[in-house]
Amino acid sequence: MGSEKYVYLFEDGNREMKDLLGGKGAGLAEMKRIGLNVPPGFTITTATCRQYMKEGKLPDGLMDEVIRNLRKIEQQSGKRFGDRKNPLLVSVRSGAPISMPGMMDTILNVGLNEETVNGLADATGNRRFALDSYRRLIQMFGNVVLGIDKGEFDGALEDLKTRYGLKHDVDLNEEHLEELIGRYFEIYSKHNLTFPQDPMEQLKIAIEAVFRSWNSERAIAYREINKIPDDMGTAVNIVTMVFGNMGSNSATGVAFTRDPNTGEKKLFAEYLINAQGEDVVSGIRTPRKIEDMARELPDAFSDLVRCSEILEKHYANMMDIEFTVERGKLFLLQTRVGKRTAKAEVKIAVDMVKEGLIDKKEAIMRVTPHVVDTLLHPQIRKTGNENLLGKGLAASPGAAVGSLVFSSDRAVELSKEGKKVILVRPETTADDVRGMAVSEGFLTQKGGMTSHAAVVARAMGKPAVVGAEGISVDIKNRIVTVGNTRLTENDTITIDGTSGKFYLGALELETASVGKDLEQILSWSDEYRKLGVRANANTPEEAELARKNGAEGIGLARTERMFLGNDRIPVVRAMIMSTTREEREKYLDQLLPMQISDFTEFFRTMDGLPVIIRLLDPPLHEFLPDKESLLNEMSVIRLRMEKGESNANDPQRMKELERILDTVRRLEEFNPMLGFRGCRVGIAYPEIYEMQVRAIITAAIKAKEEGKTIIPEIMIPLVGHHNELRILREHLQKIADDLASGKGITYKFGTMVEIPRACLTAGSIAEYADFFSFGTNDLTQMTFGYSRDDAEGKFMHTYLERKILPEDPFKSVDVEGVGELMRIAVERGRRTRPDLEIGICGEQGGDPDTIYFCHEIGLDYVSSSPFRIPIARLSAARAAIAEERSKTSD
Ligand code: ADP
Ligand code: MG
Ligand code: MG
Repeated sequence: MGSEKYVYLFEDGNREMKDLLGGKGAGLAEMKRIGLNVPPGFTITTATCRQYMKEGKLPDGLMDEVIRNLRKIEQQSGKRFGDRKNPLLVSVRSGAPISMPGMMDTILNVGLNEETVNGLADATGNRRFALDSYRRLIQMFGNVVLGIDKGEFDGALEDLKTRYGLKHDVDLNEEHLEELIGRYFEIYSKHNLTFPQDPMEQLKIAIEAVFRSWNSERAIAYREINKIPDDMGTAVNIVTMVFGNMGSNSATGVAFTRDPNTGEKKLFAEYLINAQGEDVVSGIRTPRKIEDMARELPDAFSDLVRCSEILEKHYANMMDIEFTVERGKLFLLQTRVGKRTAKAEVKIAVDMVKEGLIDKKEAIMRVTPHVVDTLLHPQIRKTGNENLLGKGLAASPGAAVGSLVFSSDRAVELSKEGKKVILVRPETTADDVRGMAVSEGFLTQKGGMTSHAAVVARAMGKPAVVGAEGISVDIKNRIVTVGNTRLTENDTITIDGTSGKFYLGALELETASVGKDLEQILSWSDEYRKLGVRANANTPEEAELARKNGAEGIGLARTERMFLGNDRIPVVRAMIMSTTREEREKYLDQLLPMQISDFTEFFRTMDGLPVIIRLLDPPLHEFLPDKESLLNEMSVIRLRMEKGESNANDPQRMKELERILDTVRRLEEFNPMLGFRGCRVGIAYPEIYEMQVRAIITAAIKAKEEGKTIIPEIMIPLVGHHNELRILREHLQKIADDLASGKGITYKFGTMVEIPRACLTAGSIAEYADFFSFGTNDLTQMTFGYSRDDAEGKFMHTYLERKILPEDPFKSVDVEGVGELMRIAVERGRRTRPDLEIGICGEQGGDPDTIYFCHEIGLDYVSSSPFRIPIARLSAARAAIAEERSKTSD
């Protein structure tokens, strides 16, 4: 092990060495390599940290290697570490392979002591500066290395400022600083600690402290939240100090090569004159803006502009830069890819393609589905005057406004009055689901990302902030306390499930829209994706939206919605209650023209594109009133009759109710999900599907006569045995052929694949199907044996929390189980019929991971909700590009 290299000079590293040198180390090395002005320094590797954690001490030989490299940077800087006349000072900085901003430790000005501080004063002719650096070291060392509470040092500083009537840290003169240093040492004594005077000991202890900070509580918590592995370790960077606190021609600052909020191509920076390190972000003084820098520090400014351009070109990305100006000269201390808003992400990707920095594929890979998701949800229109109440976990995206409500019952009540409400609870349970369904969004005090509230919110597509531990909810008195603020039902709040923040009052929301930059990314996506993208749409309005968002057809139009209109439901009920075929046909004849006009409208909207229409699917009792309300009404009438107060039409109404109740009883099922529905109803009452097929073909002929091109695909639901499909298809095809003959209409017959048996016997089912469409809602229900509504309301969150399931299978297809069935169905179906068209129309069709999987198993298209079409187009392209990249890298 003796030959192991623990230390790399910046000159010996590069950007590829992130794993070994950490992000900061690799970035510093790369900047040095391309000739930017980085102070001399070196990096102790992450492997050293791992060894430290394993052995509990610094490896033998490490400090020798550190000293050897220290000698090299002494030569470069012309100063010596620990020298009484002109001491070299260094910073000791953490830096993991994955950025963990502010989570680990950094110590500045290492090397100062009672002697070297005087040397620094003499060498620079600036005693105030030397003392300021010294007190910073004593403070950071005490806090970061020895664990003294930072507040104690801050308190001493504030005390002193008040005593001398000083406003800012920069107002402290030499005497003040000397006094402060004395006070700091007293704090050490109080804790029975001493500040080490030996520079080499300072260095060694500081290195150890940085290694230890990898396992600090907050670092561990951060890694858990961000799913960063615990075993990588951090590197330690030893960097020659440069000083932003040497007077009015010195400064420290941070910059972004473009505006991180809007993405605009314009250098964005903040800096503080005569300051050091984290002063900029700590908020002790208001930082100055880039506009002032050109005037205040002209040379450093033009150099910053130049470096920013170089870095952006070099990394082909928007970069975040930390810099220091020492007596007018610019030094770069860190660079990494800059964090940015969703809006900026999209704009920067598009602009960089146009500037020739990246290609279209790279742009598509940079815009994640999450970014698009954020842009597609309503967001708060920021004015800067928001009254922030607090922050919890961002559990389900989007913003919502409503008055507070503390119980599910009350939510239902208020929503009936037309009020918009936000449900606030300590946490939610299955009992709250009704209230959740009528609320705009949810706020809970407890719970994590897989809590009941979070899971249900995502399933419902509503904004939620959960685990807001700063609030306290008093259900009994209907009060929520946030700090000193007490809110009741009369108060309105705004929650932002994208950021986890919540605000007092009704903030203005921006409704989502696909802007021109996202439009561009999507149209590039269309060039690369192999999967088609269709929409699930039940009304012509939804179809219109789907088309606008770029859908290439309808993957699922549910006809039952057409049965529910006010003008239809009485006819539908009469049809269901009919006891003979003749009677049923009479009512179906009344429904026929209505369905024809529905379909015609639909076809007009989708001119030129395929439309899959699913024949009636739900159990018939869903169209009837529920038993409880029937019995209620009957008992009210009966009571009136007994009291002799009955209305003239009561007897007739009573008869009618009895008849409905009879039918309801007749259709009652033990398990409707597995009951009399789909093609089973179609087979028992063939006249229902006959009417629907007639309506579809007639509408197609009509639309064709108007000059539209129509490709109807007729989908039969819930087939589990090929005989079901054979019987129905033979029968319905005859009807369709008769109507369509000589009219130049083409159409397809196919089935929804949503029963495990259908997947396994896909080979024989394909004999009778022109297309398959995976109905992954039912397929998931039947494969797991869960009913979805019960799962989401009652136990799914427990399963997710306890990691029994890695993911909600109703959000993202369970690849191992449900996905395996799909794979089998694709393979067996295509073996029978190579040109079989296969898609997915379950809710999961809009989920990026599911889309990747559908690409992998070779589906022809995915179909998602009209709102998610942009995400589907992007994800399909990303799947194709990722596959291509993995092939070329093999
Ligand atoms: P973090 O990872 O928390 O950003 P850094 O290691 O980047 O911590 O250090 C924080 C700040 O300290 C830097 O942004 C920089 O301003 C200052 N700093 C670090 N090293 C030096 C140095 N050698 N000279 C001057 N300032 C430094
Ligand atoms: Mg930093
Ligand atoms: Mg189904």
